[in-house]
Amino acid sequence: MSEVVGYYYSGSAHISHWYGINERDRFVCQCGWAGTFKEMNNGFFAELIDGTCPTCDTMLAIRSLPTRDEIRTAAEAGIPEAMEQWRQIQASAPAEEASSDRATASEACH
Ligand SMILES: [Zn+2]
Repeated sequence: MSEVVGYYYSGSAHISHWYGINERDRFVCQCGWAGTFKEMNNGFFAELIDGTCPTCDTMLAIRSLPTRDEIRTAAEAGIPEAMEQWRQIQASAPAEEASSDRATASEACH
């Protein structure tokens, strides 16, 4: 397998945008615990998910949730997770941009 990034706790949480942390990346706490972001105790908020050490409750990582534009950019870059998220967005939100083109034609009728 390709190399796995390791983050060693150095006094503050690792703050990243969503796709800056790979699911396989390992975090190493000052207490000796090591694991991935999902193996931490995750706290879910409106704009971010944080991760704390399950052993000593040190906050190890803060991961901001991706915006629509970030998901699209990451999907275009070929990140599988983003491609799946973008597909779900498009499936659940019908094209909202399409309605703005309609207003211009009405004055030319007479
Ligand atoms: Zn710890």
